[in-house]
Amino acid sequence: MTTPRLSPSESTQERVDNFYGSDVFSRRIMRQRLPKDVYRSLLRTIDLGEPLDPKAADVVAATMKDWAIENGATHFTHWFQPLTGLTAEKHDSLISPDGQGGVVFNFSGADLVQGEPDASSFPSGGLRATFEARGYTAWDPTSSAFLMRGENNVTLCIPTAFVSWTGEALDTKIPLLRSMEALSKQAMRVLRVFGKADGVARVFTTVGPEQEYFLVDRDLYFRRPDLLTSERTLIGAKPPKGQQLEDQYFGTIPPRVLAFMAEAENELYRLGVPVKTRHNEVAPGQYEIAPLFEMSQIASDHQMLIMETLKRVATRHGLTALLHEKPFAGVNGSGKHNNWSMATDTGVNLLDPQEETHTNLQFLVFLCAVIRAVDLHADLLRASIASAANDHRLGANEAPPAIISIFLGSMLTDILEQVEKGLPKRTLRGGTLDLGATTLPQLPRHSGDRNRTSPFAFTGNKFEFRAVGSSASIAWPNTVLNTIVAESLDYIATELERSLGPRATPQKRQQATLALLKKLIRQHKRVLFDGDNYSGEWHGEAERRGLPNLRDSVAAFGVMRARKNVEIFRKYGVLSKAEIDSRTHIAVEKYIKQITIESETLAGMARNLVLPAALRHQTVLAQAVSATRSAGVDAADSQQALEEFVGLVAELRRLAAALEQVAAHHDEDPLRHAQHIAQRVRPAMAALRAVVDQLESQVAADLWPLPTYRDLLFLK
Ligand code: ADP
Ligand code: MG
Repeated sequence: MTTPRLSPSESTQERVDNFYGSDVFSRRIMRQRLPKDVYRSLLRTIDLGEPLDPKAADVVAATMKDWAIENGATHFTHWFQPLTGLTAEKHDSLISPDGQGGVVFNFSGADLVQGEPDASSFPSGGLRATFEARGYTAWDPTSSAFLMRGENNVTLCIPTAFVSWTGEALDTKIPLLRSMEALSKQAMRVLRVFGKADGVARVFTTVGPEQEYFLVDRDLYFRRPDLLTSERTLIGAKPPKGQQLEDQYFGTIPPRVLAFMAEAENELYRLGVPVKTRHNEVAPGQYEIAPLFEMSQIASDHQMLIMETLKRVATRHGLTALLHEKPFAGVNGSGKHNNWSMATDTGVNLLDPQEETHTNLQFLVFLCAVIRAVDLHADLLRASIASAANDHRLGANEAPPAIISIFLGSMLTDILEQVEKGLPKRTLRGGTLDLGATTLPQLPRHSGDRNRTSPFAFTGNKFEFRAVGSSASIAWPNTVLNTIVAESLDYIATELERSLGPRATPQKRQQATLALLKKLIRQHKRVLFDGDNYSGEWHGEAERRGLPNLRDSVAAFGVMRARKNVEIFRKYGVLSKAEIDSRTHIAVEKYIKQITIESETLAGMARNLVLPAALRHQTVLAQAVSATRSAGVDAADSQQALEEFVGLVAELRRLAAALEQVAAHHDEDPLRHAQHIAQRVRPAMAALRAVVDQLESQVAADLWPLPTYRDLLFLK
């Protein structure tokens, strides 16, 4: 495989043009290669959502195929995101022999626009019985086709939506696109009230997701059955040096890791994924990669590519990338900070407070729309990030708790307090930070302080939803966010339109807006909290405020059935009742399957790896006792140590059997089964693990059969 690299002989612009996005069938390439009328027609589809002319599709397909073949592609695939939470592909060759010494091309407009994978193997959550296993993939022209390069293979990937033959969404992309349309429609109404809709065709939501992950040595990874089956360690005593020294965060990146990062970024650039930052994270062996923000559906596709690329490239460097939320107990887990905002297609960020924020009523309206949405639908946001893996992380001392609240910072909190009392008169300034040395620049201090403990924080010109899990697709949390904010904007637009009528003076608009803001703040300020979300007091305080606290995923899955939640998705055309039910069903099944696999793996490791090692160690201890005694020395101490150890081994046997027993329980009703797992199986796993970890700290190092935390976390 030849990988083009940035070459120093090119000008900067050429380098960027020839390299960045060089594996994407981008607008630039389409403009160069497509006939003008076809290009224009396609842009109308991409930018304005108009249906695509089938004749244009044939031309686009032929051009795309030529471009792909010139770049080494031999196959094409529709690339989609079924409800497994992963991506799926089925490759077809672009060319086949025609039997007369020539070739035929297997890629027409129809091949581009529609595919029919065997849908029966993808989860549908009961939407489609297996015997009617028809599902279609439909080209999403808003997301660019791209080339996926592997060893000796290049595949043209066409981003598609995946839908059942009855029209129900079977993927994560369709509802996301629907939610963006819903939000756009309502946001446009609000802009019209403020006289700011002229020249604006649409409002988008934008997302910049920060991805945390761990890297472990690949050889060690293969020696840990738990990492292999579950992507997390199910046992493992804490190393003496964990993250206590806090010397890892932003520390120097080790050379092998840096080589990996550079190659992963290289590949992502070619795919047009605008990755920007990389650094060490808090835990040893933990890292982060973050792209620039993009329109939500593009950001979501690109996020999937980031996860795949990290996985794929890591193996080439003898590493394995762990995207799991909690690969190691006792050190930080991984999340995906979902930075989210709304912007017009003319490039105005609607959550930018600007200089004189207290006079910026339009901003305050969009801000309060989000506050209202999060307060009314905190349960849905919580449910949108529920998974077995994320349960290990949320509310532990490293990630926001399961109580959803909003951090605003002192500047905005002050303005909202002013609005509540009357006419807001001032915007607090951050001022400058004098570093005390004249050679250093004076840094402007942001007036929005930072709060790392909030699950939903305003960070200057966007909100950051921090509870999203590191292995999760961001499509679903963003679908929920867009939908609930669309509902708030609808409410606000309706209120303002009603009180203002068609020809309101600016003065009247100001009055009506302030009155509405006051009402919104009063009703929803209980969701605002700038303090320490990790503290015990907050849990009590949140309860007094009546905020929901859905402690684990099983509790959160249930809220998807609530009438309010079914209704909001229906009203804004995002998901039907059947589609919601199917998604919930799949989430619950996934929870059950994951923990069942984990409990079986853990019991197996306890019996087949830990127990034999412990018995060997026990033999060594016993031999030491008799050898000591036959040497005529008092062996009381050794005898006691042996007895205690034998007790631990008996405990190991007992707890392994206890786990196997509770894990064997099955319930026909998936939610009840999941409850059983949360209440019985997980505690049994924790109890068994505690004994195993105790054994690990006692068994001779040369007898311990598994790579330890120290090996996994510090070998780089
Ligand atoms: P940090 O949160 O670590 O301080 P940044 O402030 O640089 O980092 O931003 C983190 C992420 O937020 C980046 O992916 C960035 O692109 C994204 N971001 C910035 N502005 C917006 C926006 N308007 N909408 C969505 N995401 C944004
Ligand atoms: Mg951030």
